[in-house]
Amino acid sequence: MKRYWQKFLLYAQLPEMRLFWFFLPFLIILLTVNIFYLPKLLIFATVAIFFVLGAIILVNNLRLARSNLEIKIERNELKSIITNLRDGVIAYDPNFKIVIFNRAAEEIFNLQAQETIGQFFSPERAREPRFKLLSQAIFPSLAPLVIRRSEFGVYPQIIDLSFDEPQIELRVSTDKIIDSNGQLLGFVKLVHDRTREVELMRSKSEFIAVASHQLRTPLTGVHWALESLSKQTLSEEQKGLLNIALQETTNLSKIVNDLLDVSKIEEGKFGYQFENINIIDFIKETIVSVQDLAKQFGVKLYFQKPEEPSIVVPVDSQKLGIVLFNLLDNAIRYNVANGQVIATVERVKNEPYVQISVKDTGVGIPADQINKLFTKFFRADNAVKFAPGGSGLGLYIAKNIIKRHSGEIRVESEINRGSTFYFTLPTDSKLIPLKEIVYGEE
Ligand code: ADP
Repeated sequence: MKRYWQKFLLYAQLPEMRLFWFFLPFLIILLTVNIFYLPKLLIFATVAIFFVLGAIILVNNLRLARSNLEIKIERNELKSIITNLRDGVIAYDPNFKIVIFNRAAEEIFNLQAQETIGQFFSPERAREPRFKLLSQAIFPSLAPLVIRRSEFGVYPQIIDLSFDEPQIELRVSTDKIIDSNGQLLGFVKLVHDRTREVELMRSKSEFIAVASHQLRTPLTGVHWALESLSKQTLSEEQKGLLNIALQETTNLSKIVNDLLDVSKIEEGKFGYQFENINIIDFIKETIVSVQDLAKQFGVKLYFQKPEEPSIVVPVDSQKLGIVLFNLLDNAIRYNVANGQVIATVERVKNEPYVQISVKDTGVGIPADQINKLFTKFFRADNAVKFAPGGSGLGLYIAKNIIKRHSGEIRVESEINRGSTFYFTLPTDSKLIPLKEIVYGEE
């Protein structure tokens, strides 16, 4: 009972109750006058009516007061959450008038909320030095380097922005604000400052680049020395040991080279050079280069050529060689004795693309691990048992190279039946992205 009374006292003080308290004395006066001047039956009827009406009004006002109080609490809670978020929050209406600019946004953009809230933004405002960074975050096409992390036109839109002077790295997620009728009310941007993260990543990949570079020279020396040794007259046992050593140095060189490639890719410095090539000849030549390996593993290689003699594609042939070699190499290594590898190339119907596939009859990939296949250092359980050597970097590198060509890479696989890797390449150079883009693992 005491709790209800305390609640009543709380709601009774709210502004929504003012009207009720204002009219209460008049009602009491009216009631008193009635009691003195009306006959008894009417007095009873009026008191009853006043009492019922009063009760209805009181209950309704109390309800209104309570829900308004709840809304106020929610709104303030939301405001304090937005204010204290570690990421910047900017909201603006469809005319680009800023309505929310939180504390983190103030720090990132070096601006005060008062300077921005209520202001209209347009690309022209990027000319004002003070508002340049904010305008570039609102209109990303004005930023010096933009990396799209989500599909075009799909919300939330996620993009990474890089600025040189000063060095700032931002990840901006933009979402629409829509009311219950589907009408657009504005946009909200969540701005995450990744400058420190990117710096750490850069120094980590610099370390890997230097370390793998330093490893490469002595490794080549060891390999060369072992090769020279293998040309001498040796006992069968010595030959066997030497072959193991040679094989291991080859594996190690591949891992070191993969690490070097990954660090260059992640720094955006893989250095692509595009030229027009005949993809049919290119596949033929790459197949020839893995012929010895296929023999060693007892695997047969086939190339199903299309009818037309030539399909010209704009590619970086050295980088594409890494992709195709890696797919063929995997298809041979993760195959069974007397297995097959079939490569194909064909034009994609009604699209300016070609699709290349490498199909094998090998161990396959467990269904629950397919989605991790193109991530860094990932090796499927069956492969680790089957072939312990391997970096798990080949497919990650392949995905980056194919994406850089504006293509897609994917796999279909059935465990113990085999896998087919497919990738596409554009036939039109206009489809190739202008800048080198890092496709991470998100
Ligand atoms: P690596 O071959 O050095 O392990 P990759 O990045 O080339 O690295 O491949 C990653 C993993 O994908 C492999 O370890 C293996 O589990 C799986 N994989 C790739 N190609 C095939 C294939 N043709 N058949 C079965 N598994 C494959």
